[in-house]
Amino acid sequence: MEGLLSLLLLAGLFYLMMRFGCGAHMVHGHHGGHAESESSAKDPVCAMPIETGKGYTKAYASKRYWFCSRSCLDKFEAEPQKYLAASAKEEMK
Ligand SMILES: [Zn+2]
Repeated sequence: MEGLLSLLLLAGLFYLMMRFGCGAHMVHGHHGGHAESESSAKDPVCAMPIETGKGYTKAYASKRYWFCSRSCLDKFEAEPQKYLAASAKEEMK
């Protein structure tokens, strides 16, 4: 009788480990790595961090840029080379 009880206890423990142990690992894996860089961009005009999917966006020279406001987008459209050169310099630092 005692053997069966401890077996059940072990099975229960194993079940809990599978449920919470592996589940926790999967959650960590999902949030880790490059997720952050994919969901955020930098406004090349005012250097503000922008959440992609929000604000204004424009494709230029086969790349996509995000802007915090319409006025930043207008400034970029007026002189895209000026802002791209500035942001490229900053990345090299
Ligand atoms: Zn801006």
